[in-house]
Amino acid sequence: MIMNMPHNCNEKESPSRARKRNWNRQCYGEVGERFRFRPEYRHPCETVNESGTPPYSLIDWSTAKEAVLSPLHNLLAPPGLPCLTCGKMISGKVKGYPEICNSCYISIPWIASPRCDTCGRPVGCPDCSRTGKGPRHFVLNRSAVSYNAMMKEWLARYKFRGDESLGSVLSRMTGVAATRLIKELRVKSAPGKFHFDAVTYVPVSEERMLERGFNQARNLAEEAAAVLGSPLLDLLVRFRHTEKQSFKNRWQRLRDLQGIFRAAPGAEDLLQAFITRPTRNRFPYSIFSSESDYLNGERHSSLPIRLLLIDDVYTTGSTVNTCAAVLHEVCDLLGRQAEIYILTWARS
Ligand SMILES: [Zn+2]
Ligand SMILES: [Zn+2]
Repeated sequence: MIMNMPHNCNEKESPSRARKRNWNRQCYGEVGERFRFRPEYRHPCETVNESGTPPYSLIDWSTAKEAVLSPLHNLLAPPGLPCLTCGKMISGKVKGYPEICNSCYISIPWIASPRCDTCGRPVGCPDCSRTGKGPRHFVLNRSAVSYNAMMKEWLARYKFRGDESLGSVLSRMTGVAATRLIKELRVKSAPGKFHFDAVTYVPVSEERMLERGFNQARNLAEEAAAVLGSPLLDLLVRFRHTEKQSFKNRWQRLRDLQGIFRAAPGAEDLLQAFITRPTRNRFPYSIFSSESDYLNGERHSSLPIRLLLIDDVYTTGSTVNTCAAVLHEVCDLLGRQAEIYILTWARS
């Protein structure tokens, strides 16, 4: 018979009670010598030594260093950078846009859900429902933002005053819109089965290129192509520069745009080279086609080539429509149909 059993042996001892009993035995000895404290069996949680201070080895030095150096660092650190767009000091960084302040960021008129399914306008759209207008050569347009006074100022600073740091902000915004567009198209088609064969952009004339030194649409297209994982191809050229489009009505624009945009020399060969590449790990499906149209990962020649055309601002759509018509001609030369989608930074 076991003596000194502290509990009824018929009862099953719980694990927590057994641990407690073992620990008491280690620290204080067996029953009978319960109050003889043994300091060598100090519990690991007991961090206070004889002098009442935590043992040196148990101090969290990373926290302690921060506690000492943080006020010093704040005192000596340079002041925050000014906001790229309003000039006020940036107090808290905005995720993805560290160069602009929170106040400017929340003022960006993002178009999260367009009301017009065709042109991507966030408000009621009389243009797309109007009868008697010319043929539309593109499927739809989506824009990152509404072209309000603040966005006009941002674009003018970038486009006409060459503020390239602002151009980087606009490019990232276009990247956001590209992500939204592909998500939307993948929902409309079979999930995960939509991919652009290539991204291209509205070109500027040689004269304008020499004057400005860059094409803002191409810079925006670079970001969109990177986000979408599609090649950026130079498929179009602009033969001459037109006067400022926003001062003209729709018919004047259409007349002026006739013959301005053409396929770049060798555009069809360039496009052909990319659409005949192996399509492993890609999802080259169209919202107008089914999975069975593809054989062993090779594109079926009856399927349309899907291109994404990028521009900075969509006003009446006449510029992108003219470019889309030329892209259709390029695809015709390859004996293929085309689906042209438009992505613009702003919707006017
Ligand atoms: Zn600001
Ligand atoms: Zn519309």
